Amino acid sequence: MVWGVQAGEVLVSQELLRKLRKRIETLTLERDAAIACAASEKRWADEAKEVIEGLLHQFAYDGPGPTLSTGGLSALEDGFALLDWQDPHPIPESRCDEPGCIERNTCGWPSPSGYRRTCSNHWIEAER
Ligand SMILES: [Zn+2]
Repeated sequence: MVWGVQAGEVLVSQELLRKLRKRIETLTLERDAAIACAASEKRWADEAKEVIEGLLHQFAYDGPGPTLSTGGLSALEDGFALLDWQDPHPIPESRCDEPGCIERNTCGWPSPSGYRRTCSNHWIEAER
């Protein structure tokens, strides 16, 4: 008998019990491997996204606002699509410190009131 029911109790042979334990162990290992694989894929995707974002900040075209634009280049369009960015993509964190100015900050410099990041126009004005 491999298994059976006797007086309301399920009876299982030692051999079946050993096979069940082995199967549970295999399923547990497969589950753990799948979890580790998913975590690894997520880490890789996060790193790839960070690299692509850095490349787009470096090579995409500057626009007003400030924004980044593909300029119609397919490689940049692919990068924008991977990050789910609209074209143009707003980058408010790169805006000139000067109140009311919508240009991109391209200059960092110490001022009497602290470190500032401004557009080239406001950096030149500060030098005068
Ligand atoms: Zn400015």
